[in-house]
Amino acid sequence: MSLISNTTLSRRGFCTCCVAAASFAVTGAWLNPSQAFAEARDIVDLIRDDAAKAPIKVHKLRRNVSILEGSGGNIAVLTGGDGKVFIDAGITASRSRILEAANSLSRDPIKHLINTHWHFDHTDGNQWLNAEGVAILAHENTHKHLLAAQRVEDWDFNFPSSPLAAVPTEVFSSEKTLTLNRSTLHLKHYDPAHTDSDISVTFTEADILHCGDTYWNGIYPFIDYSTGGSIDGIIKATEANIAAVSDKTIVIPGHNLPGHDSPVSNKTELAAYRDMLVAIRENVARLKRHGSSLDEIITAKPTAAFDAKWGQFLITPALFTRLVYQGV
Ligand SMILES: [Zn+2]
Repeated sequence: MSLISNTTLSRRGFCTCCVAAASFAVTGAWLNPSQAFAEARDIVDLIRDDAAKAPIKVHKLRRNVSILEGSGGNIAVLTGGDGKVFIDAGITASRSRILEAANSLSRDPIKHLINTHWHFDHTDGNQWLNAEGVAILAHENTHKHLLAAQRVEDWDFNFPSSPLAAVPTEVFSSEKTLTLNRSTLHLKHYDPAHTDSDISVTFTEADILHCGDTYWNGIYPFIDYSTGGSIDGIIKATEANIAAVSDKTIVIPGHNLPGHDSPVSNKTELAAYRDMLVAIRENVARLKRHGSSLDEIITAKPTAAFDAKWGQFLITPALFTRLVYQGV
């Protein structure tokens, strides 16, 4: 029996939460790995379709930093006389609504784009932003992955190489500091975590940390083993994020549970995310050490204590178990 067929995967009103949440919540059951696998492939197309009509919410954070929410990963915007700086590009289909939202913050042209990593829901808009006159900066592995076709095994999805206009024109390997709009931006490469191309962006004066997809607030994270990600890497990156912030720091996750007043987070929630990752990693590792197969481990529900809080969006408990299993 297909659990998926019991679920209406309507493209109308789809949001990135709905595919997985509907499958989990409506059926009240878990997807097995192959079902989660098939479903994950749909997510890529559905995220693009949803972005074509989803509203873009504007959240002003602190000083001249804001968030645009609603087109793939959270987009941070730094406004000022040097031109707007975008952290991540969202999905191309949102172009008109992203422009409208950005114009509501200020009339500064968009001049700079920094990609937190290579994934499509953070770089799909690179090409149109380049056409607006934007210079694109990213880690050298983002450059490498966008230049060539990529297969993401756990999405069962092949991404073609990007057009040259979408490829970063400036790259760095470890750290880089920029001064724009009277703000210091510190970019730092993580060791392989969600992918091998992840960077954090710190807005020093505003005391804001954008974690890219090393941090999914209130939801299980995707881990892209095909381009260098691992559960241990994402735990290590989370420890680095916790060490980098104070109780006053505003923390921007790559993704978050939709429908909240604000998409941003803090040190306490980062610590809860770390505790969830470590506990599930240990549960899965223990079962695997004792010889259980992936299917047996999924049946044992090693995420059960966390599913009510973390398992309601995009990455189902079964898919997350599969992702952890690969790395222990
Ligand atoms: Zn990602």
